[in-house]
Formats: sequence, structure tokens, C-alpha cells
Amino acid sequence: MSRPQAQPAASLFIDGQFVEGEGAALTVRYPFTGQPIAELREASPAQVATACARARAAQPAWAALAPVERGRILARAAAIILERNEELARLETLDTGKPIQETLVADWPSGAAALEYFAGLAATLTGHMIPLGTDWAYTRREPLGVCAGIGAWNYPSQIACWKAAPALVMGNAMVFKPSEETPLGALKLAEILAEAGLPAGIFNVVQGGGQVGAALVADPHVAKVSLTGSVPTGRRVYAAAAEGMRHVTMELGGKSPLIVFDDANLEHAVSAAILANFYSSGQICSNGTRVFLQTGIRDAFLDRLAERVRRVQMGDPLDPATNHGPIINPTQAARIREAIAGGIAAGARLVCGGAGEGAFIPPTVFADASDDMAIARDEIFGPVLTALTFHDESEVITRANSTGFGLAAGVFTRDLTRAHRVIAALEAGTCWINAYNLTPVEMPFGGVKLSGLGRENSAAAIEHYSQLKSVYVGMGGVDAPY
Ligand code: NAD
Repeated sequence: MSRPQAQPAASLFIDGQFVEGEGAALTVRYPFTGQPIAELREASPAQVATACARARAAQPAWAALAPVERGRILARAAAIILERNEELARLETLDTGKPIQETLVADWPSGAAALEYFAGLAATLTGHMIPLGTDWAYTRREPLGVCAGIGAWNYPSQIACWKAAPALVMGNAMVFKPSEETPLGALKLAEILAEAGLPAGIFNVVQGGGQVGAALVADPHVAKVSLTGSVPTGRRVYAAAAEGMRHVTMELGGKSPLIVFDDANLEHAVSAAILANFYSSGQICSNGTRVFLQTGIRDAFLDRLAERVRRVQMGDPLDPATNHGPIINPTQAARIREAIAGGIAAGARLVCGGAGEGAFIPPTVFADASDDMAIARDEIFGPVLTALTFHDESEVITRANSTGFGLAAGVFTRDLTRAHRVIAALEAGTCWINAYNLTPVEMPFGGVKLSGLGRENSAAAIEHYSQLKSVYVGMGGVDAPY
């Protein structure tokens, strides 16, 4: 069998052109085999500066277009993505190792939905007219200028689209740096946007790790930084952005609670726990990794979960039957294994799963855990579910909230009033009732507390890619004291 290859035309995309990077070598590996699929080069500091300067130069003409014209280009890009979804899903699978059955439905399609949604919103973006007696005022919603986008490796193409769509539709330009682990999807997006008619300089891609990201955040042309990544990176990027008083959106990590009351529909709650912990091999920020089970449903839930998990199909991510892929890289796999070993050492009961082999870690369930164990406190970013037992509502709310994170939360119950009461009391930005991990573009997405600030998706995202200008209009003469 020949080795899959995914070499792009060049490593960077600046001012409408593919250009080769002048920085360090960056080998892209297929997580399933560890074999190289592309050889890239990072951007040099001068190339980061050039990308930002070109974006700055191109942005005013883009902002001067009628909004509907900007929207039309994004809509065309969405259509191209959907037409090429199969080929793009294959590339996403090679880049991330995620099963093709996931990338076909979850990655580029969700990116296309964002482009389509914001394309439709383009023509509705307005300011306000404020009557002041004879005088009046109005507001203009204006773009910020050049926005920097920095991505994580778990949903590289979705993240690029979720950031680019609201930024571009508002008339901003973007310089995007994908994760150094998964650099390929953003280049495809640049190519597709150009084909759809996006002017040169409006969407640029630079490659590299934290240093390149830091250079981007510090560039004097950058007015806003949108990061998807871990809390420690978020702290550094937010602090660096503060130097230049830049706007930020921070989509960071979590350790979200999924609360299952005794009266929940067992089968659906188990399905949700599977989606909330094992999809994308558990490498999802909003995962409900602390599963709080009420005492009456606990045993039945764990039995059924263990039974369902036995049906998992680990293997070649390009095989349509595979539903559990490898971990992104050996370092991350070692970190997850360390967390699993820590859970066992701390005395939690391993219901199923464990260390696995090579790049694969099977769906792993811990029960009889306590809130102070590391497996119940720290983000693992792997397929590890920690089940905790609770007795009553107020207790579970307190325990669910005793974490620095606040990205997401879920509640399973048939009691309507309890569902809304509990959700209202939970400190989380994105919540589900009798569902989990669904993130339609129509619904705002984002966290509270250490999990971040700002919102992606929905009309709310526009507020984070624009600023208001207030204009007072004097309709009469001007009185002065002397
Ligand atoms: P990471 O924090 O290691 O890296 C994220 C990005 O930041 C990468 O592109 C990296 O190169 C860049 N970076 C690192 N240091 C930087 C610096 N000093 N300045 C500028 N950029 C810098 O995260 P990761 O390991 O790629 O992704 C996993 C993390 O992302 C998890 O914590 C996960 O929960 C989180 N995540 C959050 C969301 C969300 O929407 N809330 C979505 C996906 C992943």
C-alpha cells in the first residue's frame, strides 16, 4: 500500500499567494502511522510581519464593499466546501487521525455552515439611530482591522472557518495560524476562499508553533486575537494582547459536568456520555468528562455504558467502519496514559478501557472516583470519563461548580422545571438539556471563568469582531459660555 501524501502547494498563504516558509522545518505526520504526509516550513518573523502588513493594506477596500458582496463570497466558499467534502474530509483525517466517519459529517460541514450563516447575516449588520430631541446620534458597527486567529489541533478546519467567517463578513482581514500539529486544513480554506473570489490579503495563513503565534499576537497591525487552545496558552496570549489593548476571544479548555438524574432516559443519557467523552478520541474541549450519576441510576448506567463501549471499532481512520481513532501524537498519548495510571493509583475503579497500545487509547471509564482526584479535576483531553455519585440537586450543583473551568455542562432529567433550574445554577457558557456536544452555528458557543471569554457562532460572534463608533449629529447652532 502506498503511503498517503498531503503536500500542499507551499507552507504559507500570504496576500493571495502560496509562499514557502523561511523558518524551521515542520513535518506533518499521519497520527495513525506516525509517517510523514507533508514537509512544511514555519513562517519567519519577517513573514509574519509581511502577512500582517498585507492584511492591513488590503482590509479597507474589503470593508468598503457592500456587506451583501462580502457575504456572497463566503456563501460561494461554503458551496465549494460542500461539493468537495469527501476530499476535504480525507485530508482532515490524515491531518488529525480522526475517523473518516466523523470528518465527513462534523469538520468541514460545520465550517461550511459557519460561512453560510455569516454570509446570510452580512446584510443585516447595522448600527442604531438614537433620537435626542432635535439633535440625534447614530452608531456605526465597524470592523476592528486585522484579526489574528490561532487554532488548536482537534478541529483545525472548523476552527479556521468559525473564526474567519464572522471576522471576514464584518469587513476585517485575518492572519490565521493553525496548530503546528495540524497545519493543512487552513491552507485549503485559503485556497477555497480565493477561488470563491476573496481579494488577496484578506485571509492569510502562517505556520509555526507558539513562537510564531506570539509574534502574530505582538504584531502592531493586529487589533484582535481569537485563540482556541488550552488555559495556560490562553493566559499567555491574553496577557500579550493586553500590551496593545487588543480585543480577544478565548476558547479554552474545560472539565465539564454531565449530570444524570435518576429519572433520566437511561439509553439517551448513555449515548450522550459516549458522545461527551469518546467522540474524536475524547479530544474535545467541551467534553462532559465529570459524569455525575444520581445513586438510583448509577449501577444501571455504568453497566449499560460498559456494554455499549464494547462495540467500539478502533483502527484505520480511513476505514468507514472505524469509530475511534488514534491520539494526535505520542506525547499527548503518554500524557493521557499518565492520567489513567494516576486514576488507578488514586483508587478509582477502572470499569473499562485503560492504557491501550501505540497511538490508540480505548474509551476508558472510571467509577467510584472522588472530586479531589486528579482525574476529576484536570482536563485530560483524551477518552477518559470519570463517574462520580451524587444524592441530591443542591449537592450536585455545588460540586459541578467547584472547578476553575466553565466551558460547558449538561443535564439529563425528565423533570422540566428541574432541568432549567439546574442549568440556571451551573457556571458554564454552553449548556445542554437532554443532549450533549451539539454546537449548531445558530447557537452561541464559548466559556465562562477560566474557559474563556467572547463567543463564537451566532449573531453574538459579530460583537467580538467589530466595534461601535458613536456619532452625535448637531441639527442647530452651538452655544458656548463665552
Ligand atoms: P495549545 O494551547 O497547546 O495550543 C493552541 C494554539 O496556541 C496552537 O496553535 C499553538 O501553537 C498556539 N500557541 C502556543 N503558545 C502560544 C503563545 N505563547 N502565543 C501564541 N500562540 C501560542 O492547545 P492544543 O494542545 O493545540 O489544544 C488543546 C487545548 O485546546 C485543550 O485545552 C482544549 O480544551 C482546547 N480547545 C478549546 C476549544 C474551545 O473552543 N473552547 C476547542 C478546541 C480545543
